[in-house]
Amino acid sequence: MTDEYLWPARNVAEYAYCPRLFYLMEVEGLHLVNVHTEEGMNIHRKVDKPSRVKRSKEGDLIQEEQPKSVRSFTVRNSELKLMAIIDLVDIDGNQATPIEYRKGRPRRKGNFAEPWPTERVQVGLQALLLEQTGYEVKEAQIYYAREKMKLSLIVDTALKDEALEILEEAKNCAKGSRPLPLVNDERCSGCSLQPLCLPNEINYERLKNADEEFQPRKVWPPCDEGIQVVVQQQGTKIGVSGMSMRIKDAQGTLQKEIPLTNVESVSLLGSVQISTQAVQTLSDLGIPIAYLSPVGRLIALIDPLDSTSAEIRRSQVRKLDDPTVVLELSKALIIAKIANQRTLLMRNNAALPENVAKDLKKLIALTEKAKSVDSVRGYEGQAASLYFRHFAGTIKDILSEEFQKNGRVRRPALDPINACLSFAYTNLTNESVAACRLARLEPSIGALHVSRPGRPALALDLMEPFRPLIADSIVISAFNRGELGEGHFIRTASGCLMTDFGRRAFYNIYARRMDTLITHPTYGYRLSYRRMLILHARMIAAWLMGEIPDLSFLTTR
Ligand code: SF4
Repeated sequence: MTDEYLWPARNVAEYAYCPRLFYLMEVEGLHLVNVHTEEGMNIHRKVDKPSRVKRSKEGDLIQEEQPKSVRSFTVRNSELKLMAIIDLVDIDGNQATPIEYRKGRPRRKGNFAEPWPTERVQVGLQALLLEQTGYEVKEAQIYYAREKMKLSLIVDTALKDEALEILEEAKNCAKGSRPLPLVNDERCSGCSLQPLCLPNEINYERLKNADEEFQPRKVWPPCDEGIQVVVQQQGTKIGVSGMSMRIKDAQGTLQKEIPLTNVESVSLLGSVQISTQAVQTLSDLGIPIAYLSPVGRLIALIDPLDSTSAEIRRSQVRKLDDPTVVLELSKALIIAKIANQRTLLMRNNAALPENVAKDLKKLIALTEKAKSVDSVRGYEGQAASLYFRHFAGTIKDILSEEFQKNGRVRRPALDPINACLSFAYTNLTNESVAACRLARLEPSIGALHVSRPGRPALALDLMEPFRPLIADSIVISAFNRGELGEGHFIRTASGCLMTDFGRRAFYNIYARRMDTLITHPTYGYRLSYRRMLILHARMIAAWLMGEIPDLSFLTTR
């Protein structure tokens, strides 16, 4: 923070709720739009329209009679290093009464209603700021929209001292590292940042060897619909209206309307148009927009400034400069990847020779003992070669014979199964880039994958354990169910490519897989594959920040 920085009173007040919440919001700039914050924003949108100066028909200023109310009253003070935009201030001569609008309810003690500590601190800070500008503040009010109720607070020395104390504590907190999450605390269930903070998961990893019992609860919204929007129909136009994304076809007919509170990323394939207003709204909400080529290659990313966190980036850069950290992360990724490859072959290849599962198990054991990242890469390569030698046995389609002959070939893909695998990995890479962004990690700085210009090394790392779970499983199911076949591909001199029709079929299967719920083996709750990817990106961030001692990735049995 520079000396000129003025602390927003609204964020400082969150310190009274939870120091970690304050730190995540104020120092790391994290926020999450959900139903509750959106409701709160709507209430503030109505109140926050600044008051206008009234003029006569001739354009002269009209002096309003006292008292008057001023909306969105901005007060700053460089001595306190504090600022506030007060929802409403009633001014009567030199007396001012700040009025704060809240969507929820006051705190209840029996029949008695009182403001929450956060609200006391916020109006206390507002009163201090108003006093610094020359007003006398004897009273503050809080209006609770849900109950249509107004509570008054006496602005006395005790209230102002309480606010000043929190301001000082918050400033000191911001100079240090991220506070640890609250342990088994009711406040977490009402906290908008819980999905980013991961209090239960972090406490579980931190304290799993201690006496306390942790049973992490599911913290995600139950519905995944529209969370990653992929638009590939050429000529489609995307706009926004209020808090909805509107997708129209080339003729201008509305095809779909998606609430923006459910959207986490937007991917546009080929010639899809998006309005400037939509780009601005998505960026304001911290939603990245990926521009992809018609075959799914990432060309550009609109990366909202809001979604970066200097703290997490600093830890990432510092930690991933340390060879022991790079080795530890690489091992965790590849151990999980080989385990998932082994499970997939055992489940889907009825004729799998017995030694393959044993050999893959040996490679896991060797990876666990690896002393260098090059050794990890070597074991990963051996496992991949063994795995793809038996991958054709998981597919019943006649095309598997061609794959068996060709083996896994990346560029150019020689047959439909190779083409489909490559397309699935490309999409998983894009999804992993979005997951890294949501975890506020820099996708280009990785461990196992070396950073190169334009290469999302960390996203490629993150997707390793998920390749068999998501991409390979999609390919197996698509060909075995007959949802993809020879007719969905064209063979050219430069390789085998998926047709438009094939890509449409692919995205249906892809969306189905990403939305499939699975039980997390450690945390016990059910999440979709998409959310698992995001969860593990956030766990990497927590590990790099030193919040959890060790790291493991999703494996299925
Ligand atoms: S989830 Fe709990 S620990 Fe995390 S910021 Fe919110 S209140 Fe604090």
